[in-house]
This record gives sequence, C-alpha cells and structure tokens, in this order.
Amino acid sequence: MTNPLLEDSPLPPFSRITTEQVEPAIKTLINRGKTAIEQLLAANSTFTPENLLQPLEDIDDALARAWSPVGHLNGVLNSDELRGAYNACLGELSAYSTWTGQHAGLFNAYSELADGPGAPSMTAAQKASVEHALRDFRLAGVDLAESDQQRFGEIRKRLSELGARFSENVLDATDAWQKSVTEDDLQGFPETAIANARQAAENAGQEGLLLTLEFPSYLPVMTYCDNEAIRREVYEAFCTRASDQGPHAGQWDNSEIIGEILDLRLELARLLGFSSYAEYSLATKMASTTREVIEFLEELAGQSRTQAQTEWAELQQYAREQHGRTELQAWDAAYYGEKLRQEKFQVSQEEIRPYLPVERVLSGMFEVVQRLYGATVSEVSEFDSYHPDVRLFDIHQDGALTARFYLDLYARPNKRGGAWMDDCRVRRQRENAIQVPVAYLVCNFTPPVGDTPALLTESELTTLFHEFGHGLHHMLTQQTVAAVSGINGVPWDAVELPSQFFENWCWEPEALAIISGHYQTGEPLPQALLERMLAARNFQSGMQMVRQLEFALFDFRLHRDWGDGVDDVQGLLDQVRADVGVITPPSYNRFQHGFSHIFSGGYAAGYYSYKWAEVLSADAFSRFEEEGIFNAETGADFRRHILETGGSREAMENFVAFRGRKPSIKPLLRHSGIAA
Ligand code: ZN
Repeated sequence: MTNPLLEDSPLPPFSRITTEQVEPAIKTLINRGKTAIEQLLAANSTFTPENLLQPLEDIDDALARAWSPVGHLNGVLNSDELRGAYNACLGELSAYSTWTGQHAGLFNAYSELADGPGAPSMTAAQKASVEHALRDFRLAGVDLAESDQQRFGEIRKRLSELGARFSENVLDATDAWQKSVTEDDLQGFPETAIANARQAAENAGQEGLLLTLEFPSYLPVMTYCDNEAIRREVYEAFCTRASDQGPHAGQWDNSEIIGEILDLRLELARLLGFSSYAEYSLATKMASTTREVIEFLEELAGQSRTQAQTEWAELQQYAREQHGRTELQAWDAAYYGEKLRQEKFQVSQEEIRPYLPVERVLSGMFEVVQRLYGATVSEVSEFDSYHPDVRLFDIHQDGALTARFYLDLYARPNKRGGAWMDDCRVRRQRENAIQVPVAYLVCNFTPPVGDTPALLTESELTTLFHEFGHGLHHMLTQQTVAAVSGINGVPWDAVELPSQFFENWCWEPEALAIISGHYQTGEPLPQALLERMLAARNFQSGMQMVRQLEFALFDFRLHRDWGDGVDDVQGLLDQVRADVGVITPPSYNRFQHGFSHIFSGGYAAGYYSYKWAEVLSADAFSRFEEEGIFNAETGADFRRHILETGGSREAMENFVAFRGRKPSIKPLLRHSGIAA
C-alpha cells in the first residue's frame, strides 16, 4: 500500500493520512534526500542552477509537501498519537537539517556556483537564494571543528524538543482548567458569551455553563464579568498556566524548560562566534545591531509612556469615582476599561458584532483584495478536508488559478490557540509547470451558536485581515525559486509588514461599507456607530503600545543579556515592567510560561519585529491615505514592490521602491493617536 504522504498531489490527501504513516514517510524522504544529494555532488564537477539548485529544491519541496499537513494537523487536530509521531519526526528533521547545513561538499558546491562562470547568468532570485544558503551554512556551523559540529547538532535537536514540550505544556494546562458556573455568576456577560459558555458545557458533556481558558471564554470574563471573584480566579488560572503557580502549580511546569532553552541558545550562539543569542538572531534580520533594536524600542517607549500613564491614571480615577473601586488590580483593567470605553464613546463590542457576520466579512474582504490587487476569490465546494469547519478557496488572476487557501476559523478543543498563516505549498517552477501556492489560514473565533451565524468582534475582524495579509504575501508572490518565494527568505522583522498593513482596511469607512452588514437586516454599519467606533479606535493606545514594548524589550534583553548579567527570568521581566509598563501584575503572574512566541515559535530575540514592521506598514499605508485607499495603481505598486518580490530583494530596497524613501516612525505614532 502506498503512503499518501509520499504522493505528489497539489493538495494534501487529508482523509487518507493516518498517524502510522507519518514517521515512515518522513524517514523515507530524508533518506531519499541524502542519497540524492550525494549523487548529485558525485555526478558533477562544475555547478549550475540546473544541476544544483533545481534538484535540491525538488528534494526540499517533497519533504515540505509531506510535513506541512502533519505540522498543520498537529496544530489544529491534536491527539496523543499524532503528537507522538510528530515529536518523533522533529528529531529526525532537526538531524537532517544539521546534516545538510554542515555538509562541506554541499557548501563547496554553493560557493563554486556563487563564484563560478555561471554566476553572472543567474536570476536575481537565484542569486539571493544562493546568498541566503551560504549565510545559512555558516549559521548551521559548516565552518566548525567536528566536535563542535556534533555539539551544535545535539543542541539544535534538544531545542526543537524543548520548544515542542513548552507548547504542549501550555496546551495541556489550558485544557486542564474549567469551571462550572451559573447564569447568576455571569452577570454582565453579553448573550453571545453566555451562549458560548453553554456550548462549552455541551461539548464537555456537561449541563449548564462552563468557563474554560480558551480565548473566546477567557476574554469575555476579563471584559464583562461583574463578579470580581470570578474574574480574579480566571485571571489567576490563565496567567499561571504551565508554571509553578496557580491552581495547577507544578503540573506542566515550563520553568526548567525556559532555563534550559536559554542556556542552549546562548551556547549555540557562542559556538558560532556571536556574543549572544540576540546577535545570532539579527544575522538573518533587517535590523543590523542589538543596539539599533534596543534604541528603536526605547524611542517608541519614550514617545508613548507618558500617554500610557495618563490613560492608566484616567482609568483609576474613573473606577474610583464611578464605581468606588479604590485599587485597580490586573484583573480589573479590561473590565473597567470596557466600561470607560462605553461611557466615553457609547460603543461596545456587542453593538458592533451583529454587523460583522462572518460571511459578509469574508466576501467584503475578498472584494477589497479584488479592488486592490485585481485578484478574485471563490469558494471550492468539494475537497478533501480534515474537519467540517474547514473551507477551501481559490484565487484567480487574469482568469488563471494562481493560489488556494484553507480557512479554519473557529476555536475547538485540541486546536492550538491564536491565529496564524502557514504554507501548505509554495509557488515554484517545477519541471513542466508552476506549482500553485497554497496557504492555511487558522483562527480561533467564537463558533456560531445554534442558528446564529458567527458574529465577529472588532479584534477578530482585525485578526482575520492580519492573517489574510500574510496569506496574500504567500499567495500573490511572483517568485519561482522556492527559497525566496512568498514569505520564504523574508526577514522576520519585515514579514509582519503585509499583515499589519492589510489590517488598515478594517478601519476605513469606505472599506467598512463593504465588509459590514447586519446579519438579520443586511443594513450596513450605521454612520453614527461607525463614527463612535472610529473615535474609540485609539482608546488606551498608549497602554497597548507599552504592553507590546514590554514583551519586546523583555524578549530582546533576555536573549542579549542571558548568562551575561541576567540569570533570573522573572527578575528581568519585573525590571522591564518597571521601566516601561504601567500596570504591575500580581507576583504569581507567570506570563513568560505561556509566551510561546519566543519559547516555541520563531520569535526568540525577534518579538520586536511586530513593532519594527508596524512602522513599515503604517508608513506604507500612509501612501494610500495620500492617494486613495482603493487606488488601483497604488495597490499594483504595493503588489509589485512588496508582495510579489518575496525574499528575492533586500527588505529595505522593497520598501524604498514602494515608498520612494526610507521608513518614518511618524505615521505609526499618528495612527496610534500618540502625539509625538
Ligand atoms: Zn503576523
């Protein structure tokens, strides 16, 4: 019987993939890859793109086509069996990537190609891919002595295991906690949140109402629950997940994992000659020095902190005067914040939601894409799926199928929290044709309840546009070399540019007219509500800014100073909070134990990327503000200079080509309502 993961199909054969096939498929592909690499090195004495780059890309792509659905299912349809198979492969994959990364023969072949007679005839994309490859060989330790290479491989393998463990602990700790409540406990809750709690109980086979730590449950508690004891209890459970504190203290505890990850990252960076992991991280980024990053973050903090303090003082005063609440706690901030927001702007999330039914939002978003980039989106009715919630869409340009994407919108058990875009197939030149790029777009929205369609909150709307912005970067690429196609080869600190950029269309009246429509009457968002909503847009934006800066500075200083003046994670976090934050959380808060971005995602010493790219995206959008948000010519320029180029050109060159100058910090501050 053939293994479906080894088939060469345009879309993954999800229904035929079983857990037992995962390890054999990955092992087979790794062995095939090793054999093919040795053969091609032995068969050629001079190297060309045709005899080196193309066959290597074929090898990598076969592995990516098999691994992408496995990684995806592990994230969205997790089970003990799949987790076991996934983890077993992580070690193999890490060892394989170390093997290729340290392969002297392969490194020499690339070096020869870069300096050889064929070099001038290479395309810009091929040249960029070779430059990236040579850099990555060095970062993989190709220059190291053999004993150091071995140690390097061990570290990488261990780090990938620890990252997976970290994320499993967070997932398990999240799923382990729940609380049965009565309707009386949920005073202040909007109808939709109560319905969600009822659905959660039903899913768990229980009567009544159930609170969980999944985001669609956690957020309404923090925002609306009048019962302070419940807010405090849920807050404590949430912010102590996977730690030594809280209701499951010591179970799924990430404390030791965090320490070991930081030690190993430092050792790995030093093996390669960097003084810290932060320096190592910048070797592949748009920012050049650790000092540049710290100064960038501190400048933003300097511009925003006074405003954040004023906003916090206003909230405290409001809670004291209007609600007799003398000392605001961390679990009060969102609750009284929402009350103050409603009082100032008479706008609540619940008032907006009926105007944002998911179908209307999707078709509106697709129309925005059509008007900006001339691409049309249509749904595919029959396809091989892995869950009833999942949908598949095609993108056509000039009558040709140019991309496809899966949409998996709703929160459910055994699905990793948050939202993300991932690639399923990358655009590349194959022997006879271009491979059509395919993306996964995953969110954790509140599912539809009963006959009511899913109604999005503003923040869900923004999330959807954000992830779709990533998707467009992946799908509208014009590159045919996989290593620089879509988001491949784009530095982390520039990769959030297209995503944050696309969020801007959620906030434009002209776009909202297309995106919104009452789910019962179809009427668009009323003008008065729209005006209040836009006025409320920058409510507490100073506090939001310093919160993100707190995460970014914590991450960056942790990876710059660990083992060199810093050995206490909590101590550093407290220090950063004192420097830039305005809210002091309780001492049991273990935010860092669930900070998957930096401990199990790719954001280590890179969380600053969000703000870095936000400067780029705000400044890019300011050109649309000047020329019209649906200006097709401006849209075509953005597509050509940013979306289509992928990693084939330096990120700064892309930006300058589109904007006509280097980025300015001012549009971001202006958009955030922060007076500089
Ligand atoms: Zn993003």
